[in-house]
Amino acid sequence: MKVTEHITNAKKTLFSFEILPPLKGTSIQSIYNSLDLLMEFNPSFVDVTYHREEFVYKKRTDGLLERRAVRKRPGTVGICAAIMNKYQVDTVPHIICGGFSKEETENALIDLDFLGIDNVLVLRGDPIKSETYFSAEEDGHKYASELLGQVNEMNNGIYLDEELKSSAPTNFCIGVAGYPEKHFEAPNIHSDIHFLKKKVEAGADYIVTQMFFDNQKYFDFVNLCRENDITIPIIPGIKPISTQKQLTLLPQRFHLNVPNPLVDEVLKCKTNTDVRQVGVEWAIQQTKELIDFGVPCIHFYTMGKSDNVQQIVGSFS
Ligand code: FAD
Repeated sequence: MKVTEHITNAKKTLFSFEILPPLKGTSIQSIYNSLDLLMEFNPSFVDVTYHREEFVYKKRTDGLLERRAVRKRPGTVGICAAIMNKYQVDTVPHIICGGFSKEETENALIDLDFLGIDNVLVLRGDPIKSETYFSAEEDGHKYASELLGQVNEMNNGIYLDEELKSSAPTNFCIGVAGYPEKHFEAPNIHSDIHFLKKKVEAGADYIVTQMFFDNQKYFDFVNLCRENDITIPIIPGIKPISTQKQLTLLPQRFHLNVPNPLVDEVLKCKTNTDVRQVGVEWAIQQTKELIDFGVPCIHFYTMGKSDNVQQIVGSFS
């Protein structure tokens, strides 16, 4: 079932979870162990992130360094299919521009369609870790809106090969990313909203936000979207802080602010077990307020840890 159908049919705020494929060489059991804790809450859908290649340097026998491209977390499509099969829950694979030619994207979408997966979250993807700027493949997409255009074309039965006649249309429900604290490359929030609107005009069905720790940022973002005639559902993304290190790591990685009261509480903690509890309580407060605001769904970023998300969602059931 499509994410938008879940939202339309919902009688109360829904929950969804986002997981990462395990590192290459790790069994899929690690995903099941994580999801086993969360499935009792009947999530409407589970997102599986996509991770592009990174460059690693290997020392050759002649002493020179050889640069190799390695995908450390492969398996997004397989994991989606496995989760659907094991738990009978809808999955949302993330698909990205980075590292994909248009043809590779088309083939990936064909695989998803054949597997009965009818949701995708369409993203540009971040730059390769060792690079400052995002660069598209020669025959790939530069922005999420362009990738979205390709998914939409396939939804209308239009494939890359113009000679294909009467091609079967796919039927993907399309989500996109939104940034309450603006995307780090955007010169200002208005520019970012302008391009977010382009994604909506290109056919996006709903938005999932970057994580935030101050609900006011989300409320302001939703107001700004509505003022700009972006009317599709905007699903807030929540991540509970769980270590003291994340106070600097999350702002650095995701370009967001952590409010002072939360920083103060985390700094008072003597152990990461205490931090984890502070993070859980903060996220419970955020969730309560978001439910009262009437959000359609709350999307929890598990980032490989689900026991704290279990505690948060458990307090609402
Ligand atoms: P875009 O919408 O393309 O925007 C990128 C930047 O370009 C923005 O600053 C925008 O304002 C600007 N822009 C857009 N269109 C134009 C245009 N036509 N001309 C000029 N400027 C333009 N990354 C992954 O690699 N894998 C994942 O699985 C993943 N999952 C994510 C899930 C969520 C919910 C979120 C919020 C992010 C996720 N990301 C993921 C990170 C995401 O890929 C990065 O934030 C990336 O830098 C931007 O992606 P986007 O889809 O928002 O890009």
